Amino acid sequence: MGLTGIQIFKMLPKTNCGECGVPTCLAFAMNLASGKAELDACPYVSDEAREKLAEASAPPIRPVAIGAGTRAFKVGGETVMFRHEKTFFNPTGLAALVPSDMDTAALDKKLKEWNALQYERVGLNLRPELIALKDVNGDSGAFAAAAGKIAKESEFGLVLMTENLDVMKAGVEASAFKKPLLYAATADNADEMGALAKESGLPLAIKADNIDGLISLSDKLAGMGLKDLVLDSGAREIKQLFQDQVAIRRAALKAGNRALGFPTITFPCEMASNIDAETLIASMLIAKYAGIAVLSDFKGESIFPLLLERLNIYTDPQRPMTVTEGIYEIGTPDENSPVLITTNFSLTYFIVSGEIEGSRVSSWLLVKDTEGLSVMTAWAAGKFAGDEVGMFVKKSGIADKVSHKKVIIPGYAASISGEMEEELPGWEIMIGPRDAALIPKFLKDM
Ligand code: SF4
Repeated sequence: MGLTGIQIFKMLPKTNCGECGVPTCLAFAMNLASGKAELDACPYVSDEAREKLAEASAPPIRPVAIGAGTRAFKVGGETVMFRHEKTFFNPTGLAALVPSDMDTAALDKKLKEWNALQYERVGLNLRPELIALKDVNGDSGAFAAAAGKIAKESEFGLVLMTENLDVMKAGVEASAFKKPLLYAATADNADEMGALAKESGLPLAIKADNIDGLISLSDKLAGMGLKDLVLDSGAREIKQLFQDQVAIRRAALKAGNRALGFPTITFPCEMASNIDAETLIASMLIAKYAGIAVLSDFKGESIFPLLLERLNIYTDPQRPMTVTEGIYEIGTPDENSPVLITTNFSLTYFIVSGEIEGSRVSSWLLVKDTEGLSVMTAWAAGKFAGDEVGMFVKKSGIADKVSHKKVIIPGYAASISGEMEEELPGWEIMIGPRDAALIPKFLKDM
């Protein structure tokens, strides 16, 4: 791990053919070293170099895919200790625990309740991804029935939790199509669980009593050819778990320890006696490196703050969140409805659209791409200039949707109205309020 761009460059063909998408082998080497390119993009690397480079360019923490369908997700793949150094990539997966002896009616009820826990924020659908099905009595029939039911009747992915090989086999048979995570291989069953995971092509979690135990089990399973592993250091006490999470991340990123270069799974549900305390522990784990956090239940009041925290931790701090440029319908606008325009900084969009919605005046909202800048910043940076905004209105197609020619611009950008009028002959440029909170009154007074 950790070859420099120059070291990688020495192993490339040096023909500068450009087929990898950049003009030179050196540029490709630099991209490879910083994780911005995939080795497969160059078709001319020799087998010998490919072997060396594949090892060297693999991410220090392997991304592991779990689940199938709409709630499929990846964990791991992280490259930094601290979010501000670059970004965190793959958000912590959130799971709720289901005991295998839960009766069908209760499970149905839970699936329905949990499925409803979805929240729209900044254009994203925030929701938990997983159900952790725990074998509580060694009944493989009940385990398989519950696994099959969850896999077939819900969008949730699965963690199959049992150390009993026969029970695990039954669970895998019933739900393999949903790509569950198998939990767990231990020192006692690693050979059999490893063989099952390999044969079924499913990711496998390893449980040990400490980090040394994890390393030896991880090495053993890697030696069996398993690639997609997830680590549980066994800690169920907050301080120890925190230390383990940091130590595992640090060992993978800073010391290049391949045995620990995998995402982790954690169990707040086994560390507290109530959902509030579990939620606090899970919030720590989202910030400090858990790949998956298993809770005893999903409740709106606990999952919603965790989803929001996760959203904030796992957005790229160097890139503002944006919405797509275009025409947005707020309410049920028609040809007489007002037309407003704003920028594509997601916070701006959601504040403005929220106020329009609150006014109950159905409207058309035009969102112009300003590279995620708010109105004032975009205007100051020349990305919300009158001619550009006018051109955007012209090309947006809004003229085909309304029978009038009036467009409302943000009060802070009042100075662009003259240029807009030149670009949009026949249109009336109306100056809206500076403060979005005044939009409802403005629209009602129109
Ligand atoms: Fe060099 Fe390979 Fe890229 Fe061609 S495709 S420029 S040989 S790295």
